[in-house]
Amino acid sequence: MLEPIMTEGECSQLHSLIDESNTIVLCCHQNPDGDALGAMLGMADILRSMGKDTVMVAPDQYPDYLQWLPNSEKIVRYDKRKEYVDTMLKICDLIFCLDFNTPSRTDEMADALRSSAAKKILIDHHPGPDIDAAVCISHPEASSTCELVFRVIWQMGLFESTGRHFAVPVYTGMMTDTGGFTYNSSNCDIYYIISQLLTRRIDKDKIYRNVYHNYSEHRLRLVGHVLCNRLVVDQARHAAYYALTRQDLKRFHFIKGDAEGLVNMPLQIKGLKLSISLREDTEHDNLVWVSLRSVDKFPCNEVAARFFNGGGHLNASGGRLYCSIEEAVEVVRRALDAFEDALK
Ligand code: 5GP
Ligand code: MN
Repeated sequence: MLEPIMTEGECSQLHSLIDESNTIVLCCHQNPDGDALGAMLGMADILRSMGKDTVMVAPDQYPDYLQWLPNSEKIVRYDKRKEYVDTMLKICDLIFCLDFNTPSRTDEMADALRSSAAKKILIDHHPGPDIDAAVCISHPEASSTCELVFRVIWQMGLFESTGRHFAVPVYTGMMTDTGGFTYNSSNCDIYYIISQLLTRRIDKDKIYRNVYHNYSEHRLRLVGHVLCNRLVVDQARHAAYYALTRQDLKRFHFIKGDAEGLVNMPLQIKGLKLSISLREDTEHDNLVWVSLRSVDKFPCNEVAARFFNGGGHLNASGGRLYCSIEEAVEVVRRALDAFEDALK
């Protein structure tokens, strides 16, 4: 059995807030990943089955490798339909904030989200929730927001009424946020949850293939190029980094999602504790996207916060730099100097 994650008070408040609402907006963070989309799709599926009008909003484009997710075509992009979403945020009764801890993670949508008078429900696993929420379900120890969505639905007694269109996205998010259950996934409850999701006749092996064996030839060759020509391994510091230029991205016909998982690969080298990816934005000058991954107790979220205008989890973080790719490499070097002792 699963331990409850909400107090009884929170659980009944959530029931009433949903009961009293007709129009519900669900939103997630910028550059949405499997967990962000899975949480929105799973939660929205239940709310729709309860007769609610739901609007799922992503701040911007979501990766190609997730477009097979059922109902993903219903997701509205804020960067494409700002006026519509602004109106919905104004007139809706309730907003679910899923897989992010602060409005700024929704980028351009942050102001509209902050100023909406609707009550908010936060369900998230990033540390430091900073959203004015009527119900705040924040558990940084959870594998994923999808795990939390499952637990919320379970505790509310709603799992009985769920089907495949709930189970598929929720399983997908749990899988992607744990790298296919290879990190942050030793809590036995995760496997109880999976066993329950499997009763909804999902094909977990097919979901794995849909996500991880769904790339273009270009992506595979991009990986080869990075590992062969771009990766810098600092054995003494137990760290590695690489910088992808706009030229690299063009050469390998980069599309959103093509860099997914790449930053984890250097950690396959024995003894490495930190991997940092730098990627020039394909359109904007002086914008470099940063991804960080670490193992054990090394806090890559501290590195992200101090050096890369970002944050995230202990072992998986991100951020951005407003400078050239060459300057970004210098920032990485300074970060490695600063964290030299912690990397020992
Ligand atoms: P990724 O490297 O996949 O973009 O991000 C890894 C993790 O770091 C994700 O859980 C993501 O939510 C978090 N993250 C990425 N970028 C940022 C950021 O700019 N700020 C914060 N606080 N977290 C981030
Ligand atoms: Mn997540």
